[in-house]
Amino acid sequence: MSTHTIKKNACVVSMAETQHRQRAWEIAAAVPDPEIPSLTIEDLGILRRIEITSNGVVVAHISPTYSACPAVMAIEEAVEQALTAAGYRTEIKRVISPAWTTDWITDMGRKKLKDYGIAPPDKASPSARALFSDPVVACPRCDSTRTEKVSEFGSTACKAHYKCEACNEPFDYFKCL
Ligand SMILES: [Zn+2]
Repeated sequence: MSTHTIKKNACVVSMAETQHRQRAWEIAAAVPDPEIPSLTIEDLGILRRIEITSNGVVVAHISPTYSACPAVMAIEEAVEQALTAAGYRTEIKRVISPAWTTDWITDMGRKKLKDYGIAPPDKASPSARALFSDPVVACPRCDSTRTEKVSEFGSTACKAHYKCEACNEPFDYFKCL
């Protein structure tokens, strides 16, 4: 850790805004995914930015995950409610571009998915994914890669259903995007 010389004039003006933005970020970031409550929207990587407008409105910029996922609306409403409950005038801005990819799921998010029994998405580049349409999916329980896709859709459209041949357990795989 190094110490920084802070430009005092610039800092005083923006201090209150920075603190509010930090607080609003923490409130929004803690909102859980409606499907996997141990996962927050920060873990999913969909909370892009918190902006505070000149008239004091907190604008949460959120990228939808899979656009067909009904969770998107639920997440936007939950963020709005959490920020409103904290006393902020709130607006939600849906950020379509750049489009969210599963690569934005944080390492913590990947760990939580696995703990929940869902195989986290592969972190390959999109071009590599196009070459290998069926990814090697490791079982979230025993880490075996002797797994077989049972169906393209698991508990939700965002997930595929797999079965592990090593431990015989069925599990969901969070599909790559
Ligand atoms: Zn297994």
